[in-house]
Amino acid sequence: MGKVVAERRSEGVFIMQLKDVRPETFTKEIHCDRCGRVALLGDAEFEEMVSIESRAGYGSVFGDGNDVNVDLCQHCLKLVLGQWLRVSEPGDRQVQLDKMLSRFDPERHGGEFPGAADSGPQAETAPERHWNCRVIETALPDGETWYAVHEVHYENGRPIMYTELPTTVDWSSEDGAEAGLRRLKKFQEALRKPALKLSDFEN
Ligand SMILES: [Zn+2]
Repeated sequence: MGKVVAERRSEGVFIMQLKDVRPETFTKEIHCDRCGRVALLGDAEFEEMVSIESRAGYGSVFGDGNDVNVDLCQHCLKLVLGQWLRVSEPGDRQVQLDKMLSRFDPERHGGEFPGAADSGPQAETAPERHWNCRVIETALPDGETWYAVHEVHYENGRPIMYTELPTTVDWSSEDGAEAGLRRLKKFQEALRKPALKLSDFEN
C-alpha cells in the first residue's frame, strides 16, 4: 500500500500525492556478438562493452529505416576496429573542443558548427565547395525590404554565388519519395539562419 502525502502548497490548496515504488529494467549482462564473452553487471569487462545502436537512413547500405545494432567486448573492438579507433587522453577533449569553438563565427556559420572547410591549411590547398538554401535580403527601390530563399554556393565556407531567381520546393522522380520533405527541411534550416545581404557576396 502506498503512502498518502498531503501537502499545503498555498492557502487552502492541498496537493495529494500517492507514493509507490515500481520495478525498473536494467541491463545485467551483455554478450559480445563476436566472441560470445558474457560480461555481468559489476564486472570491469561490463563497463568496457561497446554497443552501437544506429537507425539506417536514406541511402544506407543497410536499407532505409532498418535498425543496425552490435554489442562488442573491448577485446573484439580493438581486434576488429583497432587500427581506425581514435584513442586520446581525457585532456585532449577540451583542447579539441576549444579548437573547434575558436573557428566558430556566428556571422559566417549562422548556427552551424565549423566543418573541415573552415580549417586553415586545408582551405588553402583544395577549395571546398557546397551549397545550401539561405534567405537573402534585398532592398527594393521603394524602400521595402524583400526576403526570399535562394540557393547559395559556398567556397571554403564563404558564400560566393546565389541563384538569381528564388528557389522553389521542387524535385525529380530520381530524387526519391522523400525528396520534397528534404527540400522543405532545407527551407526550414534557411529560415533559422540570419538573412544574407548582397554585400555578403562582395568579397
Ligand atoms: Zn568479444
